Amino acid sequence: MSENNALPIKVLLVDDDKDYFTLTKFIFNEFKSAQYELEWVNNVEKALPLMCENSHDIYLVDYRLGADDGLSLMREAKAKGCRAPIILLTGQSDIETDHQAMEAGAADYLVKGEFAAPLLERSIRYSIQHSRTVENLLGSEMKFRSVFQSASDAIFLVDQRGNILLWNNASESIFGYREAEIIGKPAISLMSDKYKRKALKVGLRKTIEKVLNPLSGKAIESTGKRKDKSEFPLELSVSVWRTNRGIFYTAIVRDITNRRAVEQLLLHEATHDALTGLPNRSQFTEILKGAIKKAEADENYKFAVLFLDLDRFKIINDGLGHVMGDKLLVAISRRLAHCLRPKDTVARFGGDEFTILLNNLENNDYAVEIAERLQEELIQPFTIDGHEVYTSASVGITFSDAAKRRPEDFLRDADTAMYQAKRAGKARYEIFDSAMHIRSMNQLQTENDLRRAIEREEFFVVYQPILNLRSGDIREFEALVRWNHPEHGFIPPDDFIPVAEETGLIMAIDRWVLTQACRQLCLWQKNSIYRDSLSISVNLSTKLLINTNLTKQIRDLTEEMNLNPHCLKLEVTETSVMENAETALQILSDISKLGVRISSDDFGTGYSSLSYLHRFPFNRLKIDRSFIGRMDTDEKSEEIVRTILTLAANLNLETCAEGIENEQQFRRLRELGCEFGQGYLFSKPVEAEAAEKLLGKRFEDLLLTEKVNTSFPANEGSYIELLKVQ
Ligand code: C2E
Ligand code: CA
Ligand code: CA
Repeated sequence: MSENNALPIKVLLVDDDKDYFTLTKFIFNEFKSAQYELEWVNNVEKALPLMCENSHDIYLVDYRLGADDGLSLMREAKAKGCRAPIILLTGQSDIETDHQAMEAGAADYLVKGEFAAPLLERSIRYSIQHSRTVENLLGSEMKFRSVFQSASDAIFLVDQRGNILLWNNASESIFGYREAEIIGKPAISLMSDKYKRKALKVGLRKTIEKVLNPLSGKAIESTGKRKDKSEFPLELSVSVWRTNRGIFYTAIVRDITNRRAVEQLLLHEATHDALTGLPNRSQFTEILKGAIKKAEADENYKFAVLFLDLDRFKIINDGLGHVMGDKLLVAISRRLAHCLRPKDTVARFGGDEFTILLNNLENNDYAVEIAERLQEELIQPFTIDGHEVYTSASVGITFSDAAKRRPEDFLRDADTAMYQAKRAGKARYEIFDSAMHIRSMNQLQTENDLRRAIEREEFFVVYQPILNLRSGDIREFEALVRWNHPEHGFIPPDDFIPVAEETGLIMAIDRWVLTQACRQLCLWQKNSIYRDSLSISVNLSTKLLINTNLTKQIRDLTEEMNLNPHCLKLEVTETSVMENAETALQILSDISKLGVRISSDDFGTGYSSLSYLHRFPFNRLKIDRSFIGRMDTDEKSEEIVRTILTLAANLNLETCAEGIENEQQFRRLRELGCEFGQGYLFSKPVEAEAAEKLLGKRFEDLLLTEKVNTSFPANEGSYIELLKVQ
């Protein structure tokens, strides 16, 4: 159809006069460009259907068509869908006809006989061109309308005074105003009250200039207000049109209520613990950050951070199963939250750890009060699925302090204090002080040093004799590890064993001590007349017990050294085996089957459950030295010792008293029927060479050496010196 391509322009002449068709054909032949295809019909009946189908690119219609007239045809054709341009041909030119023609929608009109080829050609061309332009415009207007109306976003046009000019269907469903109600009204009424107040304060004109203009092309989130006065979150994007009639703004508004809800949900997921619903670690850190900022700005604002760790959660979790463990955590989190004020925050920090922020603290005593209240709440039994479960917590407290800037600082210090509370016996609280920090830094240093100590062989083993209290014979030693630190000298095991336990380094240490001790025992057995009646006790961390194939290691070791397994005793503490009762029981039973003896170390200090004594393959109870030490002065301690001895006798277990320091204790223990004993009264732990000299010595011999110097470690060897002198 375009003039540039090969398709001819199809023209239909509607005229009742055949001669005029001939004439027109003649004129067409004179046209300069393009090809035209002229057809002719001579009446309205033939013309109308063709015109309604838009069969041609243009129609030339005679004003007079026999009984009919061209104007009526034109009107009817237009009404029935004729979109092609129509040129009206008339007999004469007058204003009246001109008017009528234009009104009926003629593209042009020409007076017959007054035009030559160029004029007709121009008229045809122009008419086609014009009609195409109009059609295109209409098309895009329709397209715009349909997009505008069917859009799911509210779209409205605002003039430069801020009044609404155009309003689509979605605007109505989002804001609730019908088009007729809102056209001409200020767009500001669609914004939330808060935003409106702000805008009015700044001034409307300024708001438009300062806020709307820079917004062009960007999307912002804000709050809108519906006709029913309800407010909702929206996303607004604005485009600015600068025309010579002024500036216009197109606003596109999307209701983001659903998006917000999903975002809110996701945010909650990300910031809360799924199990308890409490804020999680990252959320707590954020809240703490806020408190730190507040404290920096206002010196009267104080807060406290509490770090709370359950004392026996692992045992409960392993014993009762994870489902019950989870239920317990939920119940605990409820109790914790119950103790706090609404402005405080309790978070699940992870596992069985909770953190608490006490906000806007009036005085530090309140934090202590809360710590006490929390502990009191937690020691009340929980009933989970019909089981009564007991628990307790250790709590560390730290207060707002200008020297600390980051959340990590507070969490670290509260954790350090909590750790001290654990070490001091659990189920208690400690307030952080800087000495603790130094201590914990030391621990970190110790940890690093420990790692190297293994490689550099800074450890050695000392041996403390264990006496048969009845006969006074020494046939047995306890192997105890010593660390000769290159800078700090001797470090007592109580200072590094807990660190080694925590880091797992204890496994390497214990394995090494075990090998050393067995090797030493073999040597002694070879050189001594006592042979197989000599034995050695080695302390064992439960970590080594449950994490490695200890049974095989011991079997290999004894086979390799040709050592009778009966001569090896392993000491485990009840607290540590109880933490992994099932596994520990299994492995200790296997080891026991090899013939190795098992002692329950530090007996009486843990939460002794007597059923545990039945179930575990113990051969010996070692009575903790705290009872022995208090025996002289404290009747209750003696009572406890006596009970333990009776219990052991009933269970057919050997007994060994630790930490005998004076003769009185020794004699009393012997009277009470305790079979074995060790302590400074007889000898401190000494190096292998000195220990060997003690073999075969009897208690009476040892007592000749008078008072033993009990200070450790500087004089550790002094008693041996005395022996040498003899
Ligand atoms: P433990 O197993 O109860 O060892 C006995 C501790 O009591 C030893 O302390 C010993 O020197 C001390 N002792 C002995 N007689 C007396 C006395 O008459 N009075 C006093 N006040 N103390 C006495 P040591 O060697 O400092 O060891 C402390 C703890 O470190 C041990 O307690 C044990 O739990 C642990 N340990 C030592 N060596 C090892 C080891 O090789 N492996 C493991 N896992 N733990 C070890
Ligand atoms: Ca021991
Ligand atoms: Ca002990």
